Amino acid sequence: MREPSPPADPIIGIDLGTTNSLVAYCFEAGPRVLALTDGTRLLPSAVRYERGVAVAVGADARGRAVEYPLDTVLSSKRLMGRSFAESAAVLGESQCRVVAGIRGLAAFEAGGTTVLPQEAAAEVLRALKRAAQESLGTEVGRAVITVPAYFDLGQREATRDAARLAGIEAVRIVNEPTAAALAYGIGGRRSAQTIAVYDFGGGTFDISILKVIPGDASGAGDLFEVVATAGDTRLGGDDIDSALASELLRTAETAARTAGRSLIPSPRSMQAIRDFAESTKIALSTAESVNIEIDLDGVTLAQTVTRAELERLAAPLVARTIAACGRAIRDSQGIAIDRVVMVGGSTRMPLVCAAVREKFGVEPYTALDPDCVVALGAAVQGAVLEGRRRDVLLLDVIPLSLGIETIGGGVAKLIHRNSSIPTSAREMFSTSVDNQTSVKVHVLQGEREMVADCRSLARFELRGLPAMPAGIPQIEVDFLVDANGVLCVDAIERRSGCRAGVQVVPTYGLTSDEIERMDRAGVEHARVDMHRHRVADLCVHSSLDAKWIREALSRVAADLDGPYREELDTALAEVQRFVGAAQASADAVDADAFQRSKERMDRLSMRLHELAITKSLKSIATAKGTSTP
Ligand code: AMP
Repeated sequence: MREPSPPADPIIGIDLGTTNSLVAYCFEAGPRVLALTDGTRLLPSAVRYERGVAVAVGADARGRAVEYPLDTVLSSKRLMGRSFAESAAVLGESQCRVVAGIRGLAAFEAGGTTVLPQEAAAEVLRALKRAAQESLGTEVGRAVITVPAYFDLGQREATRDAARLAGIEAVRIVNEPTAAALAYGIGGRRSAQTIAVYDFGGGTFDISILKVIPGDASGAGDLFEVVATAGDTRLGGDDIDSALASELLRTAETAARTAGRSLIPSPRSMQAIRDFAESTKIALSTAESVNIEIDLDGVTLAQTVTRAELERLAAPLVARTIAACGRAIRDSQGIAIDRVVMVGGSTRMPLVCAAVREKFGVEPYTALDPDCVVALGAAVQGAVLEGRRRDVLLLDVIPLSLGIETIGGGVAKLIHRNSSIPTSAREMFSTSVDNQTSVKVHVLQGEREMVADCRSLARFELRGLPAMPAGIPQIEVDFLVDANGVLCVDAIERRSGCRAGVQVVPTYGLTSDEIERMDRAGVEHARVDMHRHRVADLCVHSSLDAKWIREALSRVAADLDGPYREELDTALAEVQRFVGAAQASADAVDADAFQRSKERMDRLSMRLHELAITKSLKSIATAKGTSTP
């Protein structure tokens, strides 16, 4: 059955994952994951920045990561909205170097350029947008994008920045487990339930507890109310891969030492061993043991890895997820949980299912495809925002408390964690010096009491205050966290009624100037990519044409007049010069001149090909004539 065409300006749902990303749309018949241009549905969140070549995204980039370990950005989501200083604590899958980008933000160095995680994510989002446009047959500019529930406001802003760079308006940022609950709950359940969504992916872990209250006859939609959420944005299947890779490497080093050698693995070997560790881990979800054999720079590692060995390595990581579940259960005042919905690729591990079963005392619900469920939920929320579905109401929460710095380096909490969003708080400020016309405020997020233990979100300055003695101004500041979990600040001086100018400098997000600059660079990037693509095509086609011309020449050279032959040779040599120049640097080649040169050669060669064909036909006829009695 054909799907009815989507409305103009549809809102798609995007699961921007650490390992894989997906795009879905909610049709009248229900949400469906959209096929990518190659017919698959999971887009590996991998981007290759190879010097002088167009950026590669998805399966190509992931499949050739061992070949290009230093040019391939993997798991960029783990560094979204983080500083370089924090990056050391964030295990990544990429072999490429992490460096300090603008304002100390963590960035990758790949293919000779510095790439912010937002920019790598924007490449993934662009590929998903293209796939959605092809699949839906219409322009797409709006999306609901999911993030781990435990992403702080800085990480959410970074995700929105990535969308902006990809030409997508992130109309709503939804927590991944909440999206999963939406997909779970749309099956027409008629009784109220409390569900826990246990979401263990490649890079992050989240647990959310939600009340799902079915709509009633009065037309009220189903209510999805998040009661508590907890998690860890630095914990995922990648860490299990790292633990197994380190163990395998240690074994290989011991084997090398025994053989009187030393093993200093190259980036290629490091990437290969990580890939090996991941495929071994996946195989051990169904098999009890796996035989592996891998060559590491001339040292062969051959051994059997058992599920029990993998579980010994994974157990401390899984225990951390269970500790977070304990926090969420406490925050929800120990509410009885009817069902635990399993989301994310890592929940396929038997150890994970066993730990969840033991913690919650219920059989984990694994009927939903853990890869697709988040994107499907995002698409449902997209349909709600499009106004096509009114049967669902989503009440999400802020995962971490929001506060401001006080004198002495303490943090005063304004909005407590797990408050429903949108939410707001009001705080009064004053001045400490006579005639002070500006006040600086530092906003932080986290549960700890001191600034040093919380994450800095933004610093802003209230400007243009009327000059008054110290302590007299009454500056009322409103902090609003909108439904996307994005912070807005508004300030007014009560005595004068003067509205203060608020200039927010995000600690981890990008300023609008930076976005604009990257946007321009992105357009420039696209132009350069298109140019390189065109020159590469010209090289392939003109080399083929030249090959055919040379073949024809070898057959009819004697039948050609001198001037024509000379003209043809000149045209061939000119095209050959363009091909040579393009091989040295595609950027230095004038593609229009190359095209004209190829067209001239092709036009000239028509006479040659006609001659060659006529000669071939004649020789066939002659051959037939002699062989027929
Ligand atoms: P996600 O972020 O939900 O796409 O999950 C990706 C993570 O799931 C990666 O770390 C994968 O290695 C892991 N994963 C996928 N399939 C399996 C499996 N069958 N067993 C264990 N881990 C898996």
